[in-house]
Amino acid sequence: MWVLYQNEFIKREDVHIDMEDRGYQFGDGVYEVVRVYNGRCFRLIEHTDRLVASASSILLNLPHTKEEINAMLEKLVQLNQLGTGYIYLQYTRGVAPRYHGFPESTTPVLTAYVKEKPIPEKMLAEGIDVILAEDIRWLRCDIKSLNLLGAVLSYEQAKKAGKEEAILHRNQIVTECSLANIFMIKNKEIITHPVTTMILNGITRRVTLELADKHGYIVNEREFTVTELLGADEVFATGTTIEVMPVVSIDDQPVGNRLPGTITKELQALFANERNSFETRT
Ligand code: PLP
Repeated sequence: MWVLYQNEFIKREDVHIDMEDRGYQFGDGVYEVVRVYNGRCFRLIEHTDRLVASASSILLNLPHTKEEINAMLEKLVQLNQLGTGYIYLQYTRGVAPRYHGFPESTTPVLTAYVKEKPIPEKMLAEGIDVILAEDIRWLRCDIKSLNLLGAVLSYEQAKKAGKEEAILHRNQIVTECSLANIFMIKNKEIITHPVTTMILNGITRRVTLELADKHGYIVNEREFTVTELLGADEVFATGTTIEVMPVVSIDDQPVGNRLPGTITKELQALFANERNSFETRT
């Protein structure tokens, strides 16, 4: 496997990460996960824009332009002959003696690799069971930072309960999932948490909202409560690798009749159409 390390494409075994890398010691860095369908990067520009915004939020000056990053990622996909899967990339603040304050000068460390991952057809058709969990993350969930302990612990809680995901809530307001955004549908209205510092503004969330809007669905970006969620007609989660994923039960309580809902399935079809026909725009 070819991986990207700084400006070079090298073999994975030739990557050497320093034990004083701030990503390793502080989680001091940002990352992205980009979907690749049939060798083509989906919404790459949006991902790179978000990466640059995350970096800027943690005052990290990236050593590459967006165009350079896009070109390197496309080359990585080609070198590995990736079909359908994803790219993982991260920048850390770099290597420096361990000290909380920013180092005077350090070069950010870029690593990226690709992985095959098919479209999860069976899950998309059947939906997933999830739990509810308190949102224990920090207050800048809009930054795609390497600090993922809150998400890791919530996700593990779901897995321990034999479920696929955790829907998070802060003081009874539903925010998102540990690795995805969350939507509820009530009386044909599609509702999701607004873009604030409490959620990551997912690229799949944006595509879903864009498609819903374009096709005349009623969309409302507003806060909603756990009680509203439990009374929803349909619920679905969105994310780069899970697309538009129906949620069929929450804490063992069925959502609707415990089958993927009608509007969810329509949105899945619109999303599938988008991913099958998109034009790359780099
Ligand atoms: N919310 C969180 C907390 C995430 O970690 C992710 C993806 O990793 C998402 C939402 C979905 O974002 P995207 O659609 O860009 O994958």
